[in-house]
Formats: sequence, C-alpha cells, structure tokens
Amino acid sequence: MEALYIPQLLNAVDKTRVVSFQERLPGLDTLTPIKGELTVKHQVNYLEVKAQAEAIMTLTCNRCLQNFNHRLSIDTSELIWLEVTDKLGHTPLEREVALDDLVESLSPQGYFHPSDWLYEQVCLAIPHRQICQADCPGIQAADEPNIDDAPVDHRWATLAALKTQLPDS
Ligand SMILES: [Zn+2]
Repeated sequence: MEALYIPQLLNAVDKTRVVSFQERLPGLDTLTPIKGELTVKHQVNYLEVKAQAEAIMTLTCNRCLQNFNHRLSIDTSELIWLEVTDKLGHTPLEREVALDDLVESLSPQGYFHPSDWLYEQVCLAIPHRQICQADCPGIQAADEPNIDDAPVDHRWATLAALKTQLPDS
C-alpha cells in the first residue's frame, strides 16, 4: 500500500480514503496474504484509522510443538493525533477526544503509511499463548514427536521449546 499524503485527504470525498488490500507484509510470515479494507478519515486535528483484515498464519503449539493454522482477524481503529506544535510547544487544550486515546502522532504535513500501521495491528493480533486446541494434551512422554516428521519452522520450534522450559504463567 502506498503512503497517503495527509493534506491530500482534505480534498477527498468526506475527507476519507478507503483502501482495499490483499498483500503480504515484509517481515510477517502469513500463509495467506492479508486481505481487508482500511479507512483513513481526516478529522482536522487527528486521523481516524480503521481496518478490517484477515489472514491465516501458521503457528506452533506451545504445548505439543505441532504446527497449526490460525485465522488472524483484525477489526480495529486508532486515532492518530496530528501534532502541530513542536516538543516544546503546548498542544491545543480543546480536544474533542481524550488524550489517552491518542497514542501516536504524525505531522499534519506528513504521510500516513498504511502498511506500517497494518503491520503493527497484525503483530498485536498474533496470540501470545499459542495452543492448537483447548484440550491439547501436550507432548506425550511415551510418544515423543520426531522433529523430522512435522514441517516445523525451526525458528518457531526453538521459541516454543524455550517457552516450555519456563514456568506456566
Ligand atoms: Zn498442541
């Protein structure tokens, strides 16, 4: 997705750009392209960004170390403050939205990078605790899985193996 020039949004219909996408993001190893729609609305003082997206990602179960496919589903929105003042200046007090909601800021004369933003949202959607099924029995002592049997991504396998050494939180 190409970067959006923020001032140009003001000329768009309803000051809104809607971008449909189906693409892979660098650094995100998804089985299927990330498919969805992103909406950016210029709200004068801030950008309102929304996205719905889906992708399938192959994860490795923390318990049994088997790979499984997980459907990532994103339905999120974020307000990005358009910061007029510099670090020393005070931003206007008459904000329509709570400051807490605005965790990021961009220059009003700058660019919004949809792919970077989407990358962050997808990373946040990856489950911290990856279990193939609720009643996964884990690794059976009598039946050690042979690593060669499964098409395990070794980066994940190493991580999963490390996790099993940690106390269950
Ligand atoms: Zn499992």
